[in-house]
Amino acid sequence: MQLHLYNSLTRKTEPFVAIQEAQKIASFYACGPTVYDFAHIGNFRAFLNADVLRRTLEAIGYKVNQVMNITDVGHMTDDGVADGGGEDKMKVAANRLAEAKKSGVLPDGVELDPSDPLAIAQYYAQAFMEDSKILGMEIIDDAETNADVMPRPTQYIAEMIAMVQTLVDRGHAYVAADGVVYFDVQSFPEYGKLSGNTMEQLRSGEGGRVNMETQAVKKNPADFMLWKPDPNHLMRWPSPWGEGYPGWHLECSAMATALLGNVIDIHSGGEDNIFPHHECEIAQSCCATDSKSFANYWFHTRFLLVDGGKMSKSKGNFYTLRDLVSKGASPAAIRLELIRTHYRSNANFTMQGLKDSQRQIDRWKRLADWLCTHGCVHVTKRPLQQAKEQFLTAMCDDLNVAGAIGFLSEAVSSYAVDIDPVDDGGDSTLADELEALQVIDSILGVIDLESCACTEDIDVDKIDSLIEARLDARSSKDWGRADEIRKELTCMGIEIKDGADGTTWTRIVQ
Ligand code: AMP
Ligand code: ZN
Repeated sequence: MQLHLYNSLTRKTEPFVAIQEAQKIASFYACGPTVYDFAHIGNFRAFLNADVLRRTLEAIGYKVNQVMNITDVGHMTDDGVADGGGEDKMKVAANRLAEAKKSGVLPDGVELDPSDPLAIAQYYAQAFMEDSKILGMEIIDDAETNADVMPRPTQYIAEMIAMVQTLVDRGHAYVAADGVVYFDVQSFPEYGKLSGNTMEQLRSGEGGRVNMETQAVKKNPADFMLWKPDPNHLMRWPSPWGEGYPGWHLECSAMATALLGNVIDIHSGGEDNIFPHHECEIAQSCCATDSKSFANYWFHTRFLLVDGGKMSKSKGNFYTLRDLVSKGASPAAIRLELIRTHYRSNANFTMQGLKDSQRQIDRWKRLADWLCTHGCVHVTKRPLQQAKEQFLTAMCDDLNVAGAIGFLSEAVSSYAVDIDPVDDGGDSTLADELEALQVIDSILGVIDLESCACTEDIDVDKIDSLIEARLDARSSKDWGRADEIRKELTCMGIEIKDGADGTTWTRIVQ
C-alpha cells in the first residue's frame, strides 16, 4: 500500500517515496514544543497528527526514525519577525515564576528557581513527556531508550555554531553593524517558496512583520538572525561572534542535520510554523549542506479552534490535557477528538465533541472485549478484516481519518455484542477479527486493548498443558495434532514461539 501525502512545499498530494525506500526507512523531523509552560490541546493537535502520520507509515511497513525537538532557548515571543525580536520565551516563564514565587504560589506547588532557566525547561519538558505518553504519542517510547530522539537546543550549541560558520564562509550569512549574524535571503533564490511569499512582498514587510530596529542594519528586511551576541540574555555561550545565543530557526536545522542527515523525508509542524520558521530552516539547511532539498515532504496541521474561536484564557476555553483530565475527560477521547478532523482543516474542539468521541471509543472497546471472550468462534463473515483494508486505504489517502473511522464504524455496527455469536464453521475466527481491530488501533491508539476482558482472566494452566501436549505431539511426529493445538491457542488469543529455550507464549493483544 502506498501513502499519498499533501506536500505544503509543492501544494500537491504526492505519492510518498522515502529516500531509503528500498530499506523502508523514513526520516521524520517534527517541530516540538517550547517548554516555557504546559502544552495546550492546540499544540497537541499538531503533535498528534504527526503521530498519526508516523503510525500510518509504520502500519504500511516503514521503520520511522522520528526526532522532535524540545526548545529550551532562543524562541522569542515575537516569532512572526524572523530576527529574534521580543523576549526569550524561557525568560517569560522565569518572570511568571518569579511573580508566582512572590505571591507564594507556584504551579502544582512546585519549587522552581526563576533564575534557573534550564531547571524550568526541564520541569516543563518532563510535563510534556508525561502528557505525550498519556496521549499515546509513540515517539516517547523511543525517547525512553534514546535521548537523541527529543533533543534540546542547549545541547547542540557546537553544531549550531558550526552551521553559522559554514553559512558565513559560503557567503550566505554576514555580521551586521549591530554584531548580529544574519542570513542573507538574497543569496538563496528559493527563499519564499514554501510560504508563497515573493521577495518583493518580503522586502516590503508583507511576508511577516518588520522589526524597525533591525531594518537599518540588515541588507534586506527579510534577512533573519542566526546568532545574536547578547551579554544580558538569560542563557549564552561563547562563539566567534561574541557571547550570545542561537536563532530559533537555526536550532531546528542544526539538530535535524545532526540527527537525521542533510536531507530528510518529512518535516512537520503547525500551520504557523510555515513562515518564518520553516522557510528559514530550508534556507539555512540547503545553503549549509549544499543540498537541493532539506525535507522532501512538508506536513502542516491547521489550527485547533475551541468553541469556534481562538483558545484564550479570558474566554475560559484555554485547555491543557491536565485541565481536561481534571474535568473527567479520558485521554483516549481527547486524542480521538484531536485527530478526527482532517489535519488540513481547522478542527473545532467542544465538550460535546469530546463526549461523542468517548461514546464511540466505548463502543469499540465493548466490541473488542466481546471478540476477546469469543475468540474461538468460527465465522464466515469478516467485517473487521475488510474494514482494516478500507481503513488503511483511507489513511493512505492523505490521512483521511474521518473516512477511515467511517469504515470502522460500519464494521462495528454489523456486530451485536449483547448476544453470544453463532459459530457457523467458517474459516475465520473472532480472534482474527480482533487482530484486524488491533491493526486499526495501531493507528488510532484509542482502544485500550491491553485491558481487554479476555486478557484479564487468562487460564495459564490450560495454556501450559496445551503447550505440553503440542510438544508431545511433535516428538511423536504427529504434526497434524501439533498444528491443531497451535490453532486452539491462537483462538484463545495466545501466540507461541519455539526458540532455543523451549516454547514461550505471549498474548496476541499486547
Ligand atoms: P510552540 O510551543 O508555541 O512552539 O508550539 C508548538 C507547536 O504547536 C507548533 O508546531 C505550533 O504550530 C503548534 N500550535 C500552536 N497553537 C496551535 C493550535 N491552536 N492548533 C494547532 N497547532 C498549534
Ligand atoms: Zn522547528
